[in-house]
Amino acid sequence: MRNRTVTAVRTDSPASQAGAPTGKDLFGASQVVRLDGGRRLRLDGRIDFWPGSGKWQVLASGEERQGVTQMLAFLVQQREAEGRPLAEPTPIASSLKVLCDYCGKPAQLHLGADVYPGRKDLAGLHFWVCWACDAWVGTQADDERHRPQGALAREDLRDARRAAHEAFDRLWQRGLMTRAQADEWLARVTGIAQPGCHIGMLDVDECLRVAAKASDFLPNA
Ligand SMILES: [Zn+2]
Repeated sequence: MRNRTVTAVRTDSPASQAGAPTGKDLFGASQVVRLDGGRRLRLDGRIDFWPGSGKWQVLASGEERQGVTQMLAFLVQQREAEGRPLAEPTPIASSLKVLCDYCGKPAQLHLGADVYPGRKDLAGLHFWVCWACDAWVGTQADDERHRPQGALAREDLRDARRAAHEAFDRLWQRGLMTRAQADEWLARVTGIAQPGCHIGMLDVDECLRVAAKASDFLPNA
């Protein structure tokens, strides 16, 4: 939805980690065992996770499932059932105040290693996260202030944005139009004026529309 705004404002309070959860991080080193050269991760001694495909398997039952959000929920639920709940990873201090777009509570700044365990390519990037909502959004790698690139997104929206991004990038990467023309095309499709229109702002329906319209240019894609 185009009126969902990015709620990033400066605060005058000093950056502080007071109140941050302490204890073992959700995926502290002791809970991650790298197998098959890192292609498979054994998490918390109870599941195997394949970061490349998002597939995971419950060791005790052999049951196979898909999706990082469901996997995290499963791990949290199992630990709580045992009476030794997982602590959330410790957030990074930031002078920005970013609110979760689902629950309205403050989001936390984290490194990619917390959000995508096992993805070395994302480990050093910054993300704004609401663990309670399983929602997050990335920041530009070169943005020292770590401003969010859009609204926090749950898994369905993250998947939709990824699909829209890939379809959009094909438009200009394959030379069907220039990057500037592609940006104008995106503004027409979404009804959001440039500059300022980017896929991180879009909701699921808008992302699906962008991906479908982009595919119209690429009948053989
Ligand atoms: Zn939330």
